[in-house]
Amino acid sequence: MGRILVAGGTVVTAAETMQADVLIDGEKIVALLASDGSAAGDVDTVIDANGKLVFPGSVDAHTHMEIPFGAATSKDTFETGTRAAAWGGTTTIIDFPIQMKGDSLLGSFEETMAKADGNAAIDYGLHQIVGDVNPQTMAELDLVFKEGVSSYKLFTAYPGVYYSTDGEISSVMQWAADNGSTILMHAENGSVIDLLREQAIAAGNTDPIFHALTRPAALEGEAAHRTIILAEQTGAPLYIVHISAKEVVAEISVARSMGQNVFGETCPQYLYLEQALLDQGFEGAKFVCSPPLRDPAEGHQAALWTGLATGDLQVVATDHCPFDYEGQKTLGRGDFTRIPNGLPVVEHRFPLLIHAALADGLLTLNRMVDVAATTPAKLFGIYPKKGTIAVGSDADLAVVDPAGRSVLSAATHHMNVDYSCFEGMELHGTIDVVLSRGSVVVADGKFHGDRRHGRYLRRGLNQLLR
Ligand SMILES: [Zn+2]
Repeated sequence: MGRILVAGGTVVTAAETMQADVLIDGEKIVALLASDGSAAGDVDTVIDANGKLVFPGSVDAHTHMEIPFGAATSKDTFETGTRAAAWGGTTTIIDFPIQMKGDSLLGSFEETMAKADGNAAIDYGLHQIVGDVNPQTMAELDLVFKEGVSSYKLFTAYPGVYYSTDGEISSVMQWAADNGSTILMHAENGSVIDLLREQAIAAGNTDPIFHALTRPAALEGEAAHRTIILAEQTGAPLYIVHISAKEVVAEISVARSMGQNVFGETCPQYLYLEQALLDQGFEGAKFVCSPPLRDPAEGHQAALWTGLATGDLQVVATDHCPFDYEGQKTLGRGDFTRIPNGLPVVEHRFPLLIHAALADGLLTLNRMVDVAATTPAKLFGIYPKKGTIAVGSDADLAVVDPAGRSVLSAATHHMNVDYSCFEGMELHGTIDVVLSRGSVVVADGKFHGDRRHGRYLRRGLNQLLR
């Protein structure tokens, strides 16, 4: 802590790229200075960023630490998951209290607050999952809103667990339209998917590939279309999470062109991985998530990259929800419907996006920062405290060596899970130093963070509403 100068680097924000030194005092950025160091005055620590890129610490707007899915609980706790996030240059996560059928909404919020408190290496906010719309829930929504939760997630998938009817969704949307909250939507047609799953199992089609084949892209597109209309009717801002299908990109593009407050998120797994990975006998269970990985021959991945570049999609988050292969994914041997859904991604999202910009030219560096940090901070009401490098912002930074190379592997990653879904991928760029609110969390290949450092973020409203 004290006064830190990040010297000699190239500062990259969503808006510009500039040679500048970043001066930090305590937890905040206090100046951007000419790179000759002349104006910095006395500093306690100099971090040499010569030849390096200096990014804002990135914001992962969608993680699931230690949550139940069927018979399993996701392996990363807030402690292990935020530590892994920091290794990957992510300095803010937004996680989810989960209300399931029969639970109290407020109770689920308080339970997650207690789990995270004192167990996070980086700062965190919470979106609230609304899994049981009833009069008590409607009353408790106001109480959770007062705690700095400005976004609420509903599901058209998972009947009997999280699913809400169109009427239930509309009633929460009406509430959100009144106070300006944003509705997050898991958009897949759950009741048709359940029918297809039952039919697959009855026909003896039990391998992981049938997870993908029973969740067709058209049913993701249909649910997105339907919920966009419900949002338009009620006036609620809508953010569709973890988009995997080109059909949804098209729906969002149309709605946005009509002026509607609709936003879209995709994830590295949908950008980089493909459906064929599920088709390798039971090993395919390592790649089971919902919505499923898609076939590139159908144009989904290309549409997602294009959407990010053009602005039809605004955010890359992870839906991080790791389950061990041994003992957890294997619960679904002989019945793919019992495989816990979710992938370990939180550590690798930002490095994969940096690689996409540096090596593949799929996004400019500035647009990459926008989708990884700046826009999620704006959408979820924590900008410019988070998501950029500016005077007055939290000193959350990632110093990256563009000439470095890293190989993703379960042998070296820091997520608490026994496999990597990106095993062996070589990336351009290494994350050399990470700061969270002026504290060095990662440097010299070591973790210097503290699980008591991370603070809960009370969030404001969506800053991108028209
Ligand atoms: Zn999720």
